Formats: sequence, C-alpha cells, structure tokens
Amino acid sequence: MNDKRTEELNPYALGIAQFDRAVAYLDGIKAGLKDYFKSPKRTISVSFPVVMDDDSVRTFHGYRVLHNSALGPGKGGIRYHPEVCADSVRALAALMTWKCALADLPFGGAKGGVACDTKSLSDAEVRRITRRFVGELGDNIGPDTDIPAPDLYTNEQTMAWIFDTYDIMHPGANNRPVVTGKPLELGGSQGRNEATGLGCAIAARQLMARGMVDGLDSFQGTRVAVQGFGNVGLAAARSMEEMGARVIAISDSQGGIQADEGINLSAALAWKQQHGTVVGLPDTLSITNDELLALDCDVLVPAALGQEIRADNAHTVRARLIVEGANGPVTPEGDVILQDRGIVVLPDILANVGGVIVSYYEWVQNKENDQWDVETVHRKLDAKLVRAVDSVINRYKILTEGDGEPAAKDRAGAGGEAGGKGQRVSAAAEAARIDLRLAAMVVAIRRVARVTLQRGIWI
Ligand code: NAD
Repeated sequence: MNDKRTEELNPYALGIAQFDRAVAYLDGIKAGLKDYFKSPKRTISVSFPVVMDDDSVRTFHGYRVLHNSALGPGKGGIRYHPEVCADSVRALAALMTWKCALADLPFGGAKGGVACDTKSLSDAEVRRITRRFVGELGDNIGPDTDIPAPDLYTNEQTMAWIFDTYDIMHPGANNRPVVTGKPLELGGSQGRNEATGLGCAIAARQLMARGMVDGLDSFQGTRVAVQGFGNVGLAAARSMEEMGARVIAISDSQGGIQADEGINLSAALAWKQQHGTVVGLPDTLSITNDELLALDCDVLVPAALGQEIRADNAHTVRARLIVEGANGPVTPEGDVILQDRGIVVLPDILANVGGVIVSYYEWVQNKENDQWDVETVHRKLDAKLVRAVDSVINRYKILTEGDGEPAAKDRAGAGGEAGGKGQRVSAAAEAARIDLRLAAMVVAIRRVARVTLQRGIWI
C-alpha cells in the first residue's frame, strides 16, 4: 500500500510551488507580475438543477477558470469527476497557461469541470448536465474567448453536445471553433486521438537525440514500460514501437502484463476490448502496477493518473527516462529522488502537450472551414514539438552551464530570449534543483511575462 500522506499533494499548492521555484530564475520580471500570475483572471462557479431519469431533480456544481489570456483565448479541458473543485480546476488552468506558452500556441490557459460521477449516470443525464452547464457558462466560453476540450470522463460526444448547445445559443455564425476534440464529422481534426501519445514519443525522441539521456540516443532497441493503456498510453506505446522500441509491459486499472520479447499491442487492445483489461493476454506474465513502475526497462511512461511516483516508491524505479504522459505522475519529492539517482524526467508540460497542439490545429481548421490530412497534422505536430523540446533543452543548458555560482542565469529577464550570468537569486532558488521541469516552466513564464509587458498593463 502506498502512503501518499508524507507529501503535500494538494494540486493547487503543488502548482504554486512549481511556479515559485521557476519564477526565482526570472528576476528580470516586473514586480507584481509574479503575484498576478498566481491568480486566475476569471473564476466562474455555477450550480444548476438537472432532471434525472427517475424524474427527481439534482443540483450539480460546475466551474470554468480562465487563468490567463495574454497570448490569446483560454484553452483547456472540461472534466466530469467527483473530485472536481475550485482548487483543482484553478491549478489545471494555470498549467494550461504554461503548456500553451511552451508550445508557442496563441492561447491562454483555462480548465473547467462538473463534480459528478459519470459511472452512475445515464448518457441522457450526462447530456442534460452538459447542456445545462453550457447554458450557465453563457458567453464565458466562445470561439475567441475560451475554448473547451475533452478531459477526464468527457469525450467527443460531450464536445458535440457542447458545440450544439452553444450553436443553438448563437445562431447564424460558424461556431465550430468553440470547442475542440469534436467528432471528425463535426469538424474534429485528423490525428487528434493519437496526438498526446505520439507527442510523448516525439518529445522523448528529440530529448534522446540531443544527448540528454545517458546511454540512450534513440528508441532503437529500447525497452519501454507503459502504465495506463488508454488513449495516451496506447498511442505512446504504438509510436515508440514504430520508432524502434520494444514495449515490454503495459497496464490498466486492474493490473499489468509483461513480456520481455515485446507485447503485441493490437492483440492487447483486442483483449482489453473483449475482457475489459489487458491482464490475462496469452503469453504474458501478470504483474501489478507497482511492479510495472519498478521494472528493469529503459523508458517508463506513466500515462494513467497523477501522483504515481512519489517519495515512497521513486527509489524502486529502474528506468533511465520517465516520460510523463499523465498530468503530474511524479510528485516534487519523487522528482528529487529520481534526479539524485540520475533518472531523467521529461515533464508533463512538454511530454503531453501534443494534445493541445492538435486541438489548436483543429481550431485553425474550423476557422478556415477546412480539414487537413493526417500526414499534415503529424508533420506540423512533429515540427512544433521539436521546437518546444529544443527551447527547453537550451534553457536547461543556460541554467546549468553558467559560472558555477548558485545564481540566476536568466539575466535577460522578461524582455528577451538570451540568457546571461551572475546575479544572485533568493535562497529558495539556490536550494532549488535545476531539471527539465524547471527549465520548461522558465521558458513558459518568460513568454507570458514578455507578452504581458509588450501589450502594456492597462492603463
Ligand atoms: P484514458 O481514460 O483513456 O486512459 C487511462 C488509462 O489508465 C486506462 O487504461 C485505465 O484503465 C488506466 N488506469 C486507471 N487507473 C489506473 C491505475 N491506478 N493504474 C494503472 N492504470 C490505471 O485516459 P487518457 O486520456 O489516456 O489520459 C491519461 C492521463 O493523461 C490523464 O492523467 C490525463 O489527464 C492525461 N492527459 C491526457 C491527454 C489526452 O489528450 N487524452 C492530454 C494530456 C494529458
């Protein structure tokens, strides 16, 4: 049994801690902006009644947070989960701001959700919740203001209902860009389904090619273990296999399977569709999820839940590279232990940004009433992700290859891209460890800070 209680794991507190750690390397940032970036621009909280199938009426609570819109309209998922609350939505909205900035997308960060358990709701009830929620949000979402997407327990059907409701409320306009992750027939993008997992593989490929992982320069011949065989995990496994890797273990909520000679992913998918789990696939060994995390492999892809690799189990990991397919699978204390052990973490903000990149492509296609072929989407995704990975590696090098002083290496402040040397930072920054997560946050916050100042702070 894992004990998570030893660490502070409130998502909002974790997000603020991550921000504070990075912002210490941005001492050219204008005073006051740091505080501004900690507060969401807009928080909508709604309560609304829904008629249930048994004719009773239930009240639901929903949220939509727009964290920042300096780079453009808000972008971020809508999740339906019992644990949806203002704090978790605020934390995830801020993460979207940094993710969009890192990928150089013309979007700010947003997130939303309704506290509910879809497993105990009928499709008709979920549809009524969705329509009523969109009605309550009114013009707080829109093609040029705030654009939702799928997240936990919402899918392309939910997005179709969101589009339809908004379209009925705003007749006579091209409303397709109000939401992404739609069915293909309704303006969804080719390549959206596999975008996040493929992005994990592209980002890791580039990281290895740039020599950032000792002993690994490509996927050729690497042994990969993937936790979570859902949308992200399956696409990551397939893409890494296409790049030359051998997928030796996969898992889902019911357990995992291992085969050192490689798992047949198509057979595993068919087995899961038939039996509800990958466990039991012929010619594989059954393992637990804890055993999967501790497997002797080269690349580990946690692509299920947050907070899976923590203070209490990070010492068991034997991979050389961890690719964060899920949001927040490695906790801050987990990060420190992994770094001490020389294990490289490709952070979520970079590893799983492929999904929002292709959501952006869907939005562009909708604006133009166009549909690109899948090769075009993949080519554009690859190029954009490689640029994002390069910008993080370059920043990491500036931060680590300075004059050896425990000082801020980021002399250009919020005004330019170039780095510098020499100025001291706070004790907190000195104590911070420089890793790719920190470098990625520094790149992202710099971009948002720079644009905020270029626009000029009103009045
Ligand atoms: P999904 O529901 O398609 O798949 C999740 C998988 O994880 C399922 O196979 C499930 O059985 C498995 N799982 C659940 N609990 C588990 C456990 N305790 N141990 C092992 N496996 C478990 O979800 P998804 O869309 O693939 O998302 C996975 C993660 O990636 C989430 O953290 C999500 O927030 C993040 N993410 C997804 C996207 C996207 O585009 N889908 C984008 C960015 C981040």
